[in-house]
Amino acid sequence: MKLLSTYLRKLVLKLERFLPPRRLIVVKGDALPAKMPMRSIVLAQDGREDWCVGLQCPCGCGRTIELLVIEEAHPRWDYSVDAKGSPSLHPSVWLTNGCRSHFWLKNGRIHWCH
Ligand SMILES: [Zn+2]
Repeated sequence: MKLLSTYLRKLVLKLERFLPPRRLIVVKGDALPAKMPMRSIVLAQDGREDWCVGLQCPCGCGRTIELLVIEEAHPRWDYSVDAKGSPSLHPSVWLTNGCRSHFWLKNGRIHWCH
């Protein structure tokens, strides 16, 4: 199963630019679901408060990236959603360990920083 999911993840990455922009899914609570969607961006909303935004690392390493959007957090991110339901994040996401991915999410699209 692990092999299959790795294979699927890599396949989806190759197809990324042919796929529709990523969309935002809202879940209730202050935590991301244990099983994250392959491409969609997840917003965890506790009551009326936006808590965090999460996604599976777009490099395909399988890691879940969690970004805090609550006011009190440092660092924190801002997100916005366009008319089509596709999210943007500010600032960029830069992982300081592991795969060290560095990218922007704009209108549901991943823009890599090299
Ligand atoms: Zn990664």
